Order: sequence, then C-alpha cells, then structure tokens
Amino acid sequence: MSTPCPGYEPCVCHNAEKSESLAVRAARLAESLEREVRHFIVATDENLGDIEVRIERQSREIQRQATEKAAQSKADATPPICPVCKQKLGRVSGDHGRSFESRFGTIRVVRERGYCKRCSKWRFAADTALGLEETAGYSPRVQEMAALLASKMPVAEASVVLEHLTGVKVPRASLDREAKRQGQRARQLRAQLDQQVCLTTARAVQTELVLEPYQMIIQMDTWNIRERDDWGQTQKLRRHGREPERWHWVYTGTCFRLDHRGKTAGGRPVISERGFVATREGLDALRQQLHAEAMRRGLGQAAGALVIADGAVWIWRLADDRFAHARQRLDFYHAVQHLAAVGKALFGDDQQKLKDWLRPLAKQLKHQSAIKVIERLEDILESLPKGAAAETVAKEVNYLKEHQDRMDYRAGQRRGEPIGSGPVESTCRQHQCRFKRPGEYWRPRGDEALLCLELFWRDQRWSLLFPHNRQIDPSKN
Ligand SMILES: [Zn+2]
Repeated sequence: MSTPCPGYEPCVCHNAEKSESLAVRAARLAESLEREVRHFIVATDENLGDIEVRIERQSREIQRQATEKAAQSKADATPPICPVCKQKLGRVSGDHGRSFESRFGTIRVVRERGYCKRCSKWRFAADTALGLEETAGYSPRVQEMAALLASKMPVAEASVVLEHLTGVKVPRASLDREAKRQGQRARQLRAQLDQQVCLTTARAVQTELVLEPYQMIIQMDTWNIRERDDWGQTQKLRRHGREPERWHWVYTGTCFRLDHRGKTAGGRPVISERGFVATREGLDALRQQLHAEAMRRGLGQAAGALVIADGAVWIWRLADDRFAHARQRLDFYHAVQHLAAVGKALFGDDQQKLKDWLRPLAKQLKHQSAIKVIERLEDILESLPKGAAAETVAKEVNYLKEHQDRMDYRAGQRRGEPIGSGPVESTCRQHQCRFKRPGEYWRPRGDEALLCLELFWRDQRWSLLFPHNRQIDPSKN
C-alpha cells in the first residue's frame, strides 16, 4: 500500500521567486519556522513528530533551490572538454535543459553540448561533473538511495519507503532500473579492486612481507536462489526432454582475522572486522573474489590460515587450489550430523536411544580425538549383520575417515579457534532473507548486481561506490 506524503507536494512558487537570493529566502524561512514553533507550543494535540514533519516540509524548498543553484553554477563553470578523452569539444551550443530528481525534489539545469571528434559523440561535460551521466534522471544521492533500498527490500516496498521517509519520488520500475545500473557499476568496481589485489600480491611476493602472529579464518557455504530463466518455456522445454532449472547456487564466503573475534559484554560472540563475498557466477568467481577479499583483510601477512566448512567436495578443492597453505577443518556440527546418521541406522526412530548413544560420542569427538570415535564406529560395523544398516554405517565411517585430518577439534579449541562454520551460515541466512522472499524470482544479471551492492555495504566499501558518503561517516564505509 502506498502511503500518501502530504508534505511533499511539488512547489508551485519557485519560478516566481527565481530572482531572489538564497539569503532572502533563508530569512523568510526562518520567520516561517518561528511561526511554526509558536503554533506548536499551544497545539495540545501535537507532539514532536508533527513539528518535525512541518520543519522538514518547509525547509525542503530552500534546500531544493540551493541544490539547483549549485548544480547550475557548476554546469556554467564546466569547460567544454570531453569527459572521456579530455579533448576540446567542437560545435558547442548552449541552452540544453535537463530536469532530474534530486534529494530535495526536481531541479532543472541548463548546460552546453559539444561534439567530440575523437569519440565521435555528442557530450554534455556538465553532466559528468555533476555525476548525472548515463542515469535515467536521478542525482547521485538519489541513485545511492535507490541502490541501498533495493538491496535491502523488494523494489515495490523500497519505492514507497523512500517517498515516505524522504519525499523523493522514484517509481518502482525506475528504482529497479537505477538500482541494477548501480549494481553493474559495483560489479565493475569490484573487478577493478580485485585486479589491484592481484597486482599488489605479485609485488609483495618479491618483497617478502613480515608475517604477523594472527590466523586468518576463511569459511565457505552455498544457498540457492530462484531465477526466472526460461520463463514461459516450461512446456516447450519438457517436450524437448529438458526440465527447466530454476534454482541456482549462490556461492558465499567470509573471512576474518582470529584476533578480531571477541565477545560482547553480554557474552555474545562477535567479529569486529569481517569480509564478505557472494556470487551467483560460479566457483571461479568465488575463488577469485574470496582470495582477493582475504588478501585485503590481511591473508598475505597472516602467520597461518584455516578454512572451515561443511563437507562439500568443491570447498576442499577450492581450498587446496587457492588457499594451499591453509589448514582445513570440517564444521563440527556437520561431523555430528554424520554420527547421527549412524545412530539412526542403529536405533531407527527411537529418539531417546539415539540421543543417549550420540551425546557421549559427540563429546568424545569434540574433546578427545576423531580417531577414537572412528575406531568405535568400526567396532560397531564389525558386529553388524550385512544389510542396510551396515551399509549406512560403512558409508559414514568412510566419510569420517576421509575427513579425519580435518577433525582436530580438541587442538583447535586449545588454540582458541572456531570449530564450526556458524559465521558463514548466518551470512547465508541473512542473504536468503532478502533474496528468497515468497513470489520473488530473479535473473542472473539482476541478482548478481544487487548481491554486489549488498556486499559493498557489508564490506564497508559503500563510499567507494558513492564517494559523497565520505562526508557522512568517515569511520565506517
Ligand atoms: Zn572524447
């Protein structure tokens, strides 16, 4: 449901007041605000919310005018130089107007247009200077708002929330387009940043970095996303013997320094600095992005590294390939699930027997050694008659043997290392809260773009994408 925003009707008076200086307008606004304050004091049915809305509404027009004035002055001062190749533009003509949505409402700018011979293109140098190039008509701050909201909530909701909170009107379809455009920009920037890490790494190898006494923890997992590929083609595909595939893996990773893990006053575990990676573009993309992220977080100088994950084969292959020097650990809870599978084969649906059998075994795995646990299971296996139960137990024993070296839980705990992959699992859950809402379908280009935006935010690199944020919170982002 769209919430009406009575405070944000477009102003009809600003053309008549164009010749007025900002100072005169500001003085008039101050007088009007004084009147509002006097009214508020005696209005018994109003609380602070009412005056907040009215002050916001009344101040908006002068903010809009100041923004428009700034934009026009900057446009006037921009020399006719091609923003791409830096050549002087020819056939320059003025008086080309353009309206766009700014943080404070619609503004209009008149600027010059010139032809770049080298690029064989008409150029508006002022648009680049103002940060408006290639956009559908939204200022950089509005572009940012669209990007942030769409990465956090469905676009229809984002459009309504944006208007309700800020008065900025961006219809649903435009917001979707703008957010995806920003997402594509984020992807390009991510590729550049990852490339820079590769170059820096190559140089660092030559200079031999001094190692610091911390461990880098790397975790990986997957979740799946539903896409609208082959939409409407189901019958046709089935006639050709193909079942349409709508669910696709999103490969996810996280990395952090062990000495950045701590506890809140209430005892809740927290990680103060942590890198995130998520991609729909397959294992190669994950491998590259996760390595770059780990390097940015200090992998190159870590005394050691540890990969923790569930038992998926692709994870260990990737770890062997990209993090060859890292130790590997199977997520403890995942190992326990395999023990539970043995218990189920032995006791069927008798939950109490299963629990009584599993608890001491899990304890032994956690505090003693995996070898002893495996030996116990082998003894059990020998005593079993041939059949389904024996087959299951044999399968699980093989699995645990294969991962024996990855189950050093006692040693890990003594070193203060995590034994579970909880952090990456919670990251996956958080992504799914956004990307797996009922009725939502994605397209590969769109979901990768929005995921990338979400990662810039999480990884505190938002201000690289929207540099005007440096002014808001220099400590974060
Ligand atoms: Zn050019």
